[in-house]
Amino acid sequence: MHSSLRFLGAAGTVTGSRHLVTAGDARVLLDAGLFQGPKELRLRNRAPFPVPPASLAAVVLTHAHIDHAGALPLLWRQGFRGRVHCTPATRDLAGLLLPDSGRLQEEEARWANKRGYSKHAPNAEPLYTEAEAVAVLRLLTPLSYGERREVAPGVAVTLHRAGHILGSATALVEVASGALPRRVLFSGDLGRYGAPILSDPEPAPEADDLVLECTYGDRRHAGSARDELKQAVLESVARGGALLMPAFAIGRTQEVLFDLRDLEARGEIPVLPVFVDSPMAVDATPIYLAHREDHDGEMARLFAAGEEPLRPANTTFALSPEQSKRINEVAGACVIISASGMATGGRVLHHLARRLPDERTTVLLVGYQAAGTRGWSLQHGAATLRLYGEEVPVRARVVTIAGFSAHADSGEAARWLATLPRPPSRVFCVHGEPGALAATAARLRAGGWEATVPRHGDEVDLG
Ligand SMILES: [Zn+2]
Repeated sequence: MHSSLRFLGAAGTVTGSRHLVTAGDARVLLDAGLFQGPKELRLRNRAPFPVPPASLAAVVLTHAHIDHAGALPLLWRQGFRGRVHCTPATRDLAGLLLPDSGRLQEEEARWANKRGYSKHAPNAEPLYTEAEAVAVLRLLTPLSYGERREVAPGVAVTLHRAGHILGSATALVEVASGALPRRVLFSGDLGRYGAPILSDPEPAPEADDLVLECTYGDRRHAGSARDELKQAVLESVARGGALLMPAFAIGRTQEVLFDLRDLEARGEIPVLPVFVDSPMAVDATPIYLAHREDHDGEMARLFAAGEEPLRPANTTFALSPEQSKRINEVAGACVIISASGMATGGRVLHHLARRLPDERTTVLLVGYQAAGTRGWSLQHGAATLRLYGEEVPVRARVVTIAGFSAHADSGEAARWLATLPRPPSRVFCVHGEPGALAATAARLRAGGWEATVPRHGDEVDLG
């Protein structure tokens, strides 16, 4: 039986993770991510899928992030009706992220048409709709960590904890090929060791080939997020204003809540009013609490002690727009955690409009800020910020915390690689900017491993 692996995304770049495994007639897609960022990448989302989506026997997801799962509704639109195997937590988070992505696609198309692009081009069509995103959710089939499942004839999958976000996994794919199956290990996105809430990445199983994420292949994370957060809170309290955090609703918001509660409980910061103001964060937090199979020992200990690990003592989860607006009336020291994480949209915009002109405010950036976003402008010292069509003066102090990251740095990746029972015959470096990919491949080769950086569309034999 001929079997192969094709790199259909996240090859030479960080988004659009899609890897096609073929075993004889069976086709299985590992991750179904959207391309994000520059336009030439996003246009790939519109290109016909290299094989008819209806011909895919199954999809396996390593986690729910849009750059790994966001193309599922697109596959549905093009006729895919197979099963999508993923952990139970990934299924729950995808239930929030995919419909939200569909809403954004529809919104973008509406904006494009309003701006009059339709004069020169046919009406902008959303990539997919919220209804299509909801429809594809019924294909999601839970697969527990450590459970081996044949997802197509000649293709079996086992997931192990990756520690990146709730539900994240590495995927060992055993592909029928000759006398012995070929074992291909996909790292997915690797997380951190010792991070709050989630278990550390599990040791890697033995594999013949490894498809390795390299996001921070050329970097080390500096500093402890918890200590930096403590410092920022204390300084903000001294200024007597709001500590406003644009934060991703899934993952980062829960980490910040965990650390704030912990700092309060240990008396390292005073108890402050904390407002969580993002509908998705409000929905994601109970999902984070519910999936005990993902939690580390400290979370288990807190539950056993009857604590609420993601709830600082004076926390308000704002659901309705009215509750959100009421936060504007809060004077004095408080913490406001709101999405989106790069201030490209969402409720954080009205908080910025209200708080930026106040010199007592601290804006705390706790996540990656892509060039061109409002978060990036703030990070780079903008004197004013355009919000709701007006230039709002920035008198607030802006602080960046570098310590929060959901991705392993080069040292943590090396630690995970050291858990492999023996070096794989081949390592394919993916999911990184060119510098990070080259650095990782060079480091692996220096250690005597066979490592390459595949190009978009490359295909290799498995067998
Ligand atoms: Zn991810």
